[in-house]
Amino acid sequence: MTHRISLQPGGQSFPADADTTLLHAALDAGLMVPYGCRDGACGACKARVTQGSVDHGHAPFTTLPETEREAGMALMCCARAKTDLEMEVRDVRSIHDIPVRKLPCRVQSLDRLADDVMRLVLRLPPSENFSFLPGQYIDFLLPGGERRSFSVANTPNPDNQLELHVRLIPGGKFTPQVFTTMKPRDILRIEGPLGSFHLKDAPEPGVEHPLVLLAGGTGFAPLKAIIEDLIARGSQRDIALYWGARDRAGLYLHELASSWETALPGLRYIPVISDETAADWTGRRGLVHEAVMTDLPDLSHHQVYACGAPGMIEIAKKDFSERCQLPLTHFYADAFTFSADARN
Ligand SMILES: Cc1cc2nc3c(=O)[nH]c(=O)nc-3n(C[C@H](O)[C@H](O)[C@H](O)COP(=O)(O)OP(=O)(O)OC[C@H]3O[C@@H](n4cnc5c(N)ncnc54)[C@H](O)[C@@H]3O)c2cc1C
Repeated sequence: MTHRISLQPGGQSFPADADTTLLHAALDAGLMVPYGCRDGACGACKARVTQGSVDHGHAPFTTLPETEREAGMALMCCARAKTDLEMEVRDVRSIHDIPVRKLPCRVQSLDRLADDVMRLVLRLPPSENFSFLPGQYIDFLLPGGERRSFSVANTPNPDNQLELHVRLIPGGKFTPQVFTTMKPRDILRIEGPLGSFHLKDAPEPGVEHPLVLLAGGTGFAPLKAIIEDLIARGSQRDIALYWGARDRAGLYLHELASSWETALPGLRYIPVISDETAADWTGRRGLVHEAVMTDLPDLSHHQVYACGAPGMIEIAKKDFSERCQLPLTHFYADAFTFSADARN
């Protein structure tokens, strides 16, 4: 049975089978709705159902509590339509220009940025024109159908190269290989580009909100891509980049980030480390999202782009909206949730 899903305020609509998730159906119809992990962990695809009913599928109660279900909220990556639906979904775009593809790629280079962070550069076949928006991610397709997600840290380029910043997860299935057996010229398979974490268009021509870019650890990667794109476009935007790590080594491209203050006149870079005992650091200390709130107690006119561990994203979203008046519609995030083998 197929149902019709109508989205407001944009007025787009698409068909969805009762056995297909709303996210899958929207993407199949060429509509890029906001999404991140695709397995219910990050909450980026949460939307309100204003008419009709859904089956919430395996949506976890941690991401979609009972109170939110009762208020009509649903996770598009888990929910299936039981009737025709009307839903409120913001920032819907067409993805016909940027197809998602499965491709082979070659390892171009591997270099250690820190003990537990590897820069992995991939090269796609020269015949492929791989487009993506700065901030999006790719999935590695592993044997047995598993996937692992990594954000692209550079902008689209004529060499068809993708730069990734891979944090070692001891005991993990994929990242330990990157640090031990993987070598240049190895062939891997990827799918991408994925996700809706990219700089949104201005709400109206001429209106540009000041930006807070908030990174935790390797959450720096997609923000690097976004900033390099802004540099290439000669942006004049007012940008505060906060990068949090446990220690100085965790700010694995600190000099590069500092150099952006010269390359982008509107950018301020504020590194923050959480280890209170580190002796080699004279800069800011503490939790990175708290540093934002200290410096910018009123976020009512800002837009925030946050990337990193799910815990940091969750608390930043809550504190910024409840304590600093950030409109929730101005908070965009990619949470680095873990592997999700059962994605569809
Ligand atoms: C949209 C998206 C973008 C991402 N981008 C990046 C990126 O640019 N760079 C990056 O380093 N990571 C990124 N991640 C996280 C990365 O995909 C996971 O860390 C991945 O699962 C690691 O694969 P693995 O096979 O080595 O470990 P797995 O086999 O997946 O995990 C092994 C064990 O470690 C735990 N675990 C996995 N990852 C983490 C973690 N990050 N922290 C703590 N415990 C963990 C798991 O729960 C599991 O118990 C991203 C995740 C998402 C969803």
